[in-house]
Amino acid sequence: MNRESTARVLRTLRGMPTSDGAGVRLTRVIGTQMLPDLDPFLLLDEFGTDRAEDYIAGFPSHPHRGFETVTYMLDGRMRHKDNHGNEGLLTPGSVQWMTAGRGLVHSEMPEQESGRMRGFQLWVNLPARDKMTAPRYQEFAPDQIPQVTPTEGVTVKVIAGQLGDVHGPIVQPATDPLYLDIALAAGRHWAYPLPEGHSVFAYVFEGEVMLGDVAEARPVVQQELAVLGGGRLEMSAGSRGARLILVAGRPLREPVARHGPFVMNTREELMQAFADYQEGKF
Ligand code: FE
Repeated sequence: MNRESTARVLRTLRGMPTSDGAGVRLTRVIGTQMLPDLDPFLLLDEFGTDRAEDYIAGFPSHPHRGFETVTYMLDGRMRHKDNHGNEGLLTPGSVQWMTAGRGLVHSEMPEQESGRMRGFQLWVNLPARDKMTAPRYQEFAPDQIPQVTPTEGVTVKVIAGQLGDVHGPIVQPATDPLYLDIALAAGRHWAYPLPEGHSVFAYVFEGEVMLGDVAEARPVVQQELAVLGGGRLEMSAGSRGARLILVAGRPLREPVARHGPFVMNTREELMQAFADYQEGKF
């Protein structure tokens, strides 16, 4: 990596309000007409509400094949169950990196009737060679996710990827993901060297941050996503501080055939996914 080069903001955009599952209100940031994907990322949803009616219906039984779903909870409790007998409870600060592979049918339902529900779901594509792999979970409680204070007023949770000598618990060689939850106190500055050749985005979920070096830094505010170029990413929090996720992955550069919860390489594989699901082969 050329450590002298500074990462630039290539574009910024806001998500679209939408609903999914049985009527959960959320903001879709990747997977819209504005940003259909950011190889290997297929979708990013932010959910965040204090209103039970916005989340209570949850995501009843539905299939996935050919990619990974990554749920990172900030607030609230969500129970997941699949048709292979896997079950677990996601609590605030926990992460579930689910490799759907050749397929599973699962539900993701709130385990609370009131209070705040907040977090993210990211979809990460799998390469052709891994699309029909056995389903797999990497699930970590908050105390299993390393938290680093690289400098005063900066706290980083390392979910995936590396910060100095600290490695996040998630392992996925196919896309070599980075997933950091970064909290910057008001006015604080930090820089992170982005992995070379990866697709990178930052999504601000609290406050405001300036991204890029001093001469060309761009403000990115709450609920904005910034697509980033490579290099060393300079971050400076605004007067209210900032929280953001910084996510990167190695692009797969393969054809994508997707429809709903199935993401394959060809139309034939997509048709096969529908057939297999209907015949109960998941
Ligand atoms: Fe799901």
